[in-house]
This record gives sequence, C-alpha cells and structure tokens, in this order.
Amino acid sequence: MADDVFADPQAWGFETRAIRAGQAHEPTSGAVVTPISLATTFVQEEPGVHRGYEYSRTGNPTRRALQDCLASLEGAGHGLAFASGMAAEDTLLRTLSPGDHIVLGNDAYGGTYRLISAVLAPSGIEWSAADLTDPDSLGAAMRPETKVVWAETPTNPLLTVVDLAATAEVAHAGGARFVVDNTFATPYLQQPLSHGADVVVHSTTKYCGGHSDVVGGFLATDDTELAERLAYLQNAIGAVGSPFDNYLTLRGLKTLAVRMDRHCSNARALVEMLKAHPAVSTVLYPGLPEHPGHAAAASQMSDFGGMVSFRLAAGRDAAMSVASSTSVFSLAESLGAVESLIEHPGVMTHASAADSPLEVPDDLVRISVGIETADDLVADLEGALDRL
Ligand SMILES: *Cc1c(COP(=O)(O)O)cnc(C)c1O
Repeated sequence: MADDVFADPQAWGFETRAIRAGQAHEPTSGAVVTPISLATTFVQEEPGVHRGYEYSRTGNPTRRALQDCLASLEGAGHGLAFASGMAAEDTLLRTLSPGDHIVLGNDAYGGTYRLISAVLAPSGIEWSAADLTDPDSLGAAMRPETKVVWAETPTNPLLTVVDLAATAEVAHAGGARFVVDNTFATPYLQQPLSHGADVVVHSTTKYCGGHSDVVGGFLATDDTELAERLAYLQNAIGAVGSPFDNYLTLRGLKTLAVRMDRHCSNARALVEMLKAHPAVSTVLYPGLPEHPGHAAAASQMSDFGGMVSFRLAAGRDAAMSVASSTSVFSLAESLGAVESLIEHPGVMTHASAADSPLEVPDDLVRISVGIETADDLVADLEGALDRL
C-alpha cells in the first residue's frame, strides 16, 4: 500500500497527483511512463526475502502505481484496484457475515442491487432499501445488525443527491460503515472520505478510465485495519485486473481533470436545451437550482458532473424513440467516457430492477455527456426531440 514507492506530497494539486502520484520514473531506464509489468513472479534473494513483490495476484508494480495514484486522488491512505467495479464491491461485502444487514439507497446501480439481493442474500446477508435523501427513511431502515450503509451520489440513473455528511452521521450512530460509490462524481468533483465516508467504491470502467476501453474497480479507505482485511481478501479471492488494464486506467487518470471540466460544461449546454424543449417534462441534473439535492451537491461537489437524465412528456414510446434516433450520441450502456452515450434505463441498465424498490420510470432517458463539440451534441439531441 501507500508507503515507499514514490514521495507523494498531498501538498501537490489534484492534476499533478493524477500524473505523478505513485508513478516513480522507472529506475533502470528512466522511462517517465509506468511500465506494464507482465511478470507473474518476482525473484527472491533468499527464501522469503524479496523486493515487495512475490506473485502478481498478490502484488504487481503496475497495479501498485494505479492503487497509489487513485488513493492519493481520493485523499485516502489505502487503495486497491480490482478487475471490475463489481469485483471491488463483492470483495468489500465479503467482510460481512451471515445475519449482517446492509442498507442500500433505493436508487442504486442495478448491478449492486443484483449482487446484494440475488448473490449475497441467499447466503444470509440481510438488506433493505431506503430513501437516503430522507433521514427518517434511513433511520427506519437501520437495525442493530446494520453493518453497512451504501450510497451513491449522484445516483444512477435518477441523479439523486445524498447528503454525505448527514448520512455518515446516521450510519455511524448506528455502528455501521458508510460506503460511497463515487463512480459518477469521480474524485475530481467529490471526495467522500472528507465528508465522513469510510470506504469509497469506484467502477473505474467509467470516468477514471474514461475511454470505454477498460473494465476496472477500486476501493479506497483511510482505515488501515480494514485495508489490510481487504488486501487479504483481494489476494484470497483473486479478482484483480491485468497489468495492461491497470496501465490503461492509470493513463486515463492523467486526463481526468480536463475531461471532467469538459463533461460538466457540455452537460450544462445540454441541460439548457432540454429545459427549454416542450417534449421534455423533467430534467434531472444536480446543477439545476430547482433540483432537490442542489444545495447538498453544491456543498459537497466542485461541479455537477456529466450525467443527465430526462423524462419525456409523451411517455415510454417517446423515450424509446429519442434513445434510438441520435447520431453523435451512441445508443449504449455504460457511461463516463469521451464519447457521448444515450440509453433507456428501464429496458437497458435497470431492466433487472423491474418490479423492485429500485424500478425506474419508463419515460426516462439517461445521457452520458462526452467531450465532443457542445454544439454538435445539442443539435443532435434537439433534432431527436424535434422529430418526435
Ligand atoms: C458501472 C458501475 C458499477 C459496476 O462497475 P463494473 O466496472 O461495470 O463492474 C458500479 N457502480 C456504478 C455507479 C456504476 O456505474
């Protein structure tokens, strides 16, 4: 974990850390880019004496660079990189035992809901969903056995904002850990540990990687005891990404700040168009002053992100039609990359949440705003709405 590899003064700004933290120049050649370390095993001076690496599932130099860099960006003492966001989530939730209880935000990522309700629940993990924007709903869901309160903010796909400090307080009063999935905001816009979270989860597949070409996940924490347990589980379970995956994610992090600035400004341009369009009944974006979570978002985020959802006045068929008739926006699942994507959550990303507490409205369209020319994005989506 974060120790000797590279002096990493937290005094450096975010952009400098994104490019340098954990990324010492390669000592043999002086290469300024972290090498992709493909070796599965590392030489030992004598049995048990080595330079910090034995076997690549347990520890790998490329993964280590990514871990140290992203931990630094989250302001965390420890970070662990996984083969996917779900692998990170599964590893974290294996710290629980049968009978333990999870409170999950009622607007969680569909895969998180599926992992908890369909994979962990049958082996005795209890769970309930709560509206985390309502302290009474969270309070009512807490049980003596509650070990984890799991939030996303902004949420997927309804862009609901959870007040991190207020939720941390309720979780901690009940003796639970507060876990925040920071995939949508990224550490550039929001650092949950500084608002009371105990663990930050990422699907680095999204903004951290940022180019739709690598699947990965991450856990960050300041709790050394928990970090040691997680490192044990990471090695014991083995859901680590390849060195090439880790390299791509590290490469993506270097431009996270400039990409996020453009994601945010392009999202603002699209929100303005959507607000004015008669076919759109509601625009869901935390940057809008009328958004119920706007004040919380403004206090815990430095900008409002690149994800926007909207509802169509004419209902499901209109939503399906808009999602199918853009040309700059590609109709696809996933989010957070340079190219703009559009989707119908009810049929695509959130199909598995149908008839559950996490069901989403069928007139909803979600867009992941990319970093293309803003005018092209506005014209493309406006054209699709005009054709309804
Ligand atoms: C994609 C996503 C995940 C799951 O991550 P994978 O990398 O796809 O396994 C978890 N949480 C959120 C918010 C996501 O968008």
